[in-house]
Amino acid sequence: MISDTPFTLTHDSKLDDLLAANKQWSKSMNNLHPSLFPEFNGKGQQPHTLFIGCSDSRYNETCLGVLPGEVFTWKTVANICNPEDLTLMATLEFAIRCLKVNKVVVCGHTDCGGIKTCLTGQLEPLKDKEGLNCGHLYQYLHDIDELHRSEKEQLASFPTLEEKSKYLSHCNVKRQFAQIMKNDTVKNAIVAQELEVYGLVYNVDSGLLDPVIAN
Ligand SMILES: [Zn+2]
Repeated sequence: MISDTPFTLTHDSKLDDLLAANKQWSKSMNNLHPSLFPEFNGKGQQPHTLFIGCSDSRYNETCLGVLPGEVFTWKTVANICNPEDLTLMATLEFAIRCLKVNKVVVCGHTDCGGIKTCLTGQLEPLKDKEGLNCGHLYQYLHDIDELHRSEKEQLASFPTLEEKSKYLSHCNVKRQFAQIMKNDTVKNAIVAQELEVYGLVYNVDSGLLDPVIAN
């Protein structure tokens, strides 16, 4: 079928389409890397990196050019790393203590919906029961709202929404990086010189990463 998008599936795709797409993907992976599934992925995993990113559909650990088996991943809206978050704590323990990754990448991105929601005053309407009815999302984005408030003065110097949003994406990576650095599992691994932590921003319009901060 001739399509004017590069995408594989659409909202109209059903289970059969997903399974057909998967067969095609598996076949092409086998052609490109015949040993990947039988000799590596089928025998376990030894990931070198933990990738923490936003749940946004436009990027994931593959922006590092890696194959399945190289990167352990945790994605969450606006890549918020609350040190009290049980999922985050469990992910850090499993990746660092059990899988022995030696790098943690905290990777935000440009044009982040969570950041733009706060920037454009769309946070309050989220909790409107007659409207979007996203009370949990409203509660969850509190961290980004706090960041937005603390950066208000700096933000005024950027003329466009895109520039403000990109600036906050960078600030958010620094903020979440600092949260990760408070975690005991991370702290102990750094002291033992077994771990490095990097903060990056992925540009959705180029596929390129900007370095922001490192330990
Ligand atoms: Zn995002």
